[in-house]
Amino acid sequence: MIRKLAPHIIQNIAAGELVERPASVLKELIENSIDAEASQIKVEHEGGGIRLLRVSDNGHGIPADELELVFESHATSKIQFVEDLHKIRTMGFRGEAMGSIASVARVELWTSTPQSDTGSRAEIQFGKWMGKKPADRREGTEIVVRDLFEKLPARRKFLKSEASEARQLYQVFKRYALVYPEKQWSFFESSNRKIQLGPSTFMERCLWYFGESDPKYFFEAEGEYGPWRVQYMGRQPRYLQASRRGLLLFLNRRPIKDRSLEFAVRRAFEGFAENPQDVMGALFIEGSPEIFDVNVHPSKTEVRFQDASSLFSAIVHGIRSQLSKLHLPSFKSVSLSTSQENPKSELEPTFQQKISFSISSPNISSSNLEKLPLHAQSLNENFESQFEYLGSVQNTFWLAKRDESLFLFDQHALHERILYEQLMKEFKEKERLASQRLLFPIQLPLDEFESLLEMEDLLESFGFEIRQWDSSRLRISAVPAILKREYREALTAIAECEIQSRESFLRESLARIACHSALRAHDPVKREQAQTILGQFSSNDALGHCPHGRPTFIRFDFNELEKFFHRS
Ligand code: ADP
Ligand code: MG
Repeated sequence: MIRKLAPHIIQNIAAGELVERPASVLKELIENSIDAEASQIKVEHEGGGIRLLRVSDNGHGIPADELELVFESHATSKIQFVEDLHKIRTMGFRGEAMGSIASVARVELWTSTPQSDTGSRAEIQFGKWMGKKPADRREGTEIVVRDLFEKLPARRKFLKSEASEARQLYQVFKRYALVYPEKQWSFFESSNRKIQLGPSTFMERCLWYFGESDPKYFFEAEGEYGPWRVQYMGRQPRYLQASRRGLLLFLNRRPIKDRSLEFAVRRAFEGFAENPQDVMGALFIEGSPEIFDVNVHPSKTEVRFQDASSLFSAIVHGIRSQLSKLHLPSFKSVSLSTSQENPKSELEPTFQQKISFSISSPNISSSNLEKLPLHAQSLNENFESQFEYLGSVQNTFWLAKRDESLFLFDQHALHERILYEQLMKEFKEKERLASQRLLFPIQLPLDEFESLLEMEDLLESFGFEIRQWDSSRLRISAVPAILKREYREALTAIAECEIQSRESFLRESLARIACHSALRAHDPVKREQAQTILGQFSSNDALGHCPHGRPTFIRFDFNELEKFFHRS
């Protein structure tokens, strides 16, 4: 028999989607305080929020005659008309949270508005309205949630230990405190933690969030692209660590989850970081609510974008333009000494300029140079081939001079960078790399290298010839001409590349081929050969890092040396 469900059962089902654990309750309560324009938000809990969770704010409060409505489902003060759904500026709008929470816990609410002389208090227990009465007037709203899921043992079973629920509460708290740094936040735990944060800047909050004491490891990128404004704050590529990764996304200050946008951030770090998987930072996106939809799921963390690819490019190019600047020591001195009128804008293209030309070529490092204004390019040629090789230590580090500066190069990183640029160029022009047949083909165990067969075509265009030899072995009979040794190591490295897209796979695998073809530390190098390599460097690349993000050189300017020796 088909029956229409009673309202309280419907409520319970809806609550199942929204209220999973104390942390999801906290998220909804904090969002309501933010929507009430509170400048102070205080969170307290006992027993990981299962026994008690209290959120107090100094927001605009709720009029006494609307208190019942707070807990009705689909009752909200935030939207009214269907068109409003396309211009949501508040965190909430579905009018579901308070009702859902009250259906699975004991809830008390104190509130007062600036207009009224008294406050009011309301109580609701497991969906049952217990009444309201006048109360002391206090600022804003305070909501206490007790005994979550007490009447739903099946749901309670899914909760973790109190300590683990407490950790999740703190994570939620931190995320909102990060994205609303102008507000005052506090977090009190019955037993131990007491945290109070005064208003601060985004960068300060970011450093706090990531537990970073020293701002020098961080950088900030920012820019506008079409309808999007993106801002990124995070660790610089050369300081990334697998043990400290973490990426947060916010859209109009709403925490969101989106794998493709996370991928965009990692893509931006490709070529700058040894492992873009390890990024640590926060991405803040802003755009008009008309071009995306957060009404996908009750928790509002999933988003549908009208034009996801424009946002993807905005993120990649926004972050990249800043990353490339982090490594531009040599540009600065040129612009100061030679370019007269407005040197900065000539040599450091603005964000907008960079976007427009880097879109055509995904490899920003060389496109930077190619597309600089003519004037700047000729400057560039002027200082080319002026590196003078002076000698090396331990066949590993080279000393060179150019103009008024001394340079210390890492021979492997330098050579790797040059080969990488050459490979990219060759591949772009001919869609393939030169190949050489091996006199003695090599064999590799199939189980370890099976993934190579999936990318056979691409590997063939790199110059590899790979066939399955028998049931347990692969046979390699040709390799890229540039690779003179370490065939197996190169293929192992390529097999480990993540295939997220053809473009990133291409870049990653060429970087790995370059790495295994390059001079190593302690390889003896003749003076002429070193001079030739240095000559190729200046004409190829102004970025001070290898394709994996390690630095290729350190530069000492004359005036720095003077300072060092106390001459100035
Ligand atoms: P939504 O946030 O989607 O509107 P909720 O169920 O979370 O729905 O809240 C219902 C209504 O209760 C809100 O629209 C708001 O008017 C009111 N409300 C809830 N919490 C607060 C608060 N802390 N301060 C002021 N008003 C609140
Ligand atoms: Mg809400």
